[in-house]
Amino acid sequence: MGKDIDVTKVVRQHLETEQFFTGGFTVKAKTQQQEDDMDIAEKTKGLEEIADEVRQCRKCPLGSLRTNAVPGEGSPNARIMFIGEGPGADEDAQGRPFVGRAGQLLDKVIAAMGLKRSEVYIGNILKCRPPENRDPRADEIISCLPYLQSQIEIIGPEIIVALGAHAARTLLNTTKPIGQLRGQFHEYYAGLGRPPIKLMATYHTAYLLRNYSPENRRRVWEDMKKVLAELGLPVPEKGKD
Ligand code: SF4
Repeated sequence: MGKDIDVTKVVRQHLETEQFFTGGFTVKAKTQQQEDDMDIAEKTKGLEEIADEVRQCRKCPLGSLRTNAVPGEGSPNARIMFIGEGPGADEDAQGRPFVGRAGQLLDKVIAAMGLKRSEVYIGNILKCRPPENRDPRADEIISCLPYLQSQIEIIGPEIIVALGAHAARTLLNTTKPIGQLRGQFHEYYAGLGRPPIKLMATYHTAYLLRNYSPENRRRVWEDMKKVLAELGLPVPEKGKD
């Protein structure tokens, strides 16, 4: 009979040899889930950095008139970004986008699409409220747009929904009226070397509230159905009022 084998010693030697060749670390391939988590963490960090910058920003006169800046909110991995023109009184008071009556209607539109508000991203061209909700001025848009461009770059949505004429015209660099722009896909130019992003223009929910006709509601719903179809998501037959 040969010598008894000391199993513990053999195992220890094996582990020590392994450690020697692997530098003491257990090498594991990253799972897709771990990579996705890292991706979301990086995107979240990038969006938070932009939000911090926006809250300190005084690049245009609106910075000294606001109560709160409204950087935008939602999923860093959103497939859809809803973009309006600028915060109103409720948004200025709370520092969150689309929280007033127009925001509640947008929530209904999103719910009718079968989505949650937390699954999409909601923001504006301007991050600070223009006084009396007047239209954004060119110099304000020029100062503020880089923030939104960076948010779009980080999130990388498949579709941008431009809510209202100001958002649609700014993002498409056109002067056409919203009536001509809505209802069809356009391309948002995302920058050199990047593929364009599909953009659907539709009426702003504030406009819809002021002009709450069955025809206008049907138009917005038709636009959102096209967005869902383009994303390969189920298209509910009827939208909610
Ligand atoms: S509107 Fe935009 S550019 Fe003007 S102060 Fe606010 S964050 Fe800055």
